[in-house]
Amino acid sequence: MLDPDKKPDPAAPKVSFVSLGCPKALVDSERIITRLRAEGYELSRQHQGSDLVIVNTCGFLDSAKAESLGAIGAALKENGKVIVTGCMGAEPESITAAYPDVLAITGPQQYESVLDAVHKALPPRHDPFLDLVPPEGIKLTPRHYAYLKISEGCNNRCTFCIIPKLRGDLVSRPAADVLREAEKLAAAGVKELLVISQDTSAYGVDIKYAASKWRDKEVRAKFIDLARALGELGIWVRLHYVYPYPHVDEVIPLMAEKKVLPYLDIPFQHASPDVLRRMKRPAAQEKTLERIARWREICPDLTLRSTFIVGFPGETEQDFEYLLQWLDEAALDRVGCFKYEPVKGAPANDLGDAVPEEVKEQRWHRFMQAQQKISARRLKRKVGTRQQVIIDEVGPTVSKGRSMADAPEIDGAVYVASRRPLRVGEIATVKIERADAYDLHGSVVGF
Ligand code: SF4
Repeated sequence: MLDPDKKPDPAAPKVSFVSLGCPKALVDSERIITRLRAEGYELSRQHQGSDLVIVNTCGFLDSAKAESLGAIGAALKENGKVIVTGCMGAEPESITAAYPDVLAITGPQQYESVLDAVHKALPPRHDPFLDLVPPEGIKLTPRHYAYLKISEGCNNRCTFCIIPKLRGDLVSRPAADVLREAEKLAAAGVKELLVISQDTSAYGVDIKYAASKWRDKEVRAKFIDLARALGELGIWVRLHYVYPYPHVDEVIPLMAEKKVLPYLDIPFQHASPDVLRRMKRPAAQEKTLERIARWREICPDLTLRSTFIVGFPGETEQDFEYLLQWLDEAALDRVGCFKYEPVKGAPANDLGDAVPEEVKEQRWHRFMQAQQKISARRLKRKVGTRQQVIIDEVGPTVSKGRSMADAPEIDGAVYVASRRPLRVGEIATVKIERADAYDLHGSVVGF
């Protein structure tokens, strides 16, 4: 959301911003926008009438690249002055080949270069009475939740992925830095923090878990220490992109105590040992089914979310059956599934044994059908329980929110009836009355 309280200044240079891609890209956009606002630029939602457009691109899949190129083309047509940044900026030729007229192209996380390009194309207006940017920065996410990026890049080399090529090796932020940002967000009214990175459980490996001072103590840049410290803020803390390294077990008791949300987003991607080996997935050797069972014993409310790829090169019918069986046993709560797409530059393309498109398609449908049943089964168990629900959208009779088991944008919702009007960001106690395949329905019984 672009600071809705701020009145536009007609004389201020105006920038329109398009943010594409994953939550990590969204955090980059927020940083760029915060800097621009601090320098007196106005943000606009419309290309027409703006002085310049910035497009933050996503280059992960070919479909995302096509969407990014489409956004650049639209911005050129409607405005004419366009700066491109983000993941696709790491391969500038693919942009200039299609659009030689873009003003500048910068890569992911190159905040300074984006700002330099903006200054060159559209100098900032000196304004001694410049409005102060709110201390938490400008957030593109609604005010009641915010993404908290703890590191950049990745030390893994999954064969289907080009992120390490685009973003480089893991670079972790010092713990005190992360915690200060989290504290500011909480002070500014944020009720839920979504911890993101490429590999959250590897946090701090690159800086040897160096400790830094936050409040009156030293906090190590380590997954568990950071989770514990974030848990002290008294707001919802949700952990994304966690790989099942053995030390992840340590966070489960914190979840059982609700210091952090009992929610783990673990992108398993597959279950067949052969496929995982060819994918070069981190922590693929760990005995996940047994661990999941143990985690649920310690924390029965634990929600597990994951994503999978079907049709990876060399995936046999046997591998796929293995995956379906694993899925049934693991009984994950929330699952996304993608058909393998050969991303340009990804080592998996050289593995050979491509799975035909129609087989990928069939496997995807079979996977989704199987998971839908599991998901419905898991949700049904919640009927009759009371859940804390954070309200995202307010409606005249029914509002839309999320329980601790639902991350924004990727998971289901809880539809909430209430006698008194609800407010966005409010957390209500809701009695669950009904479940369908992905969502829950209930009524407020307390606050
Ligand atoms: S963990 Fe694997 S998939 Fe995720 S960013 Fe790193 S290399 Fe890519």
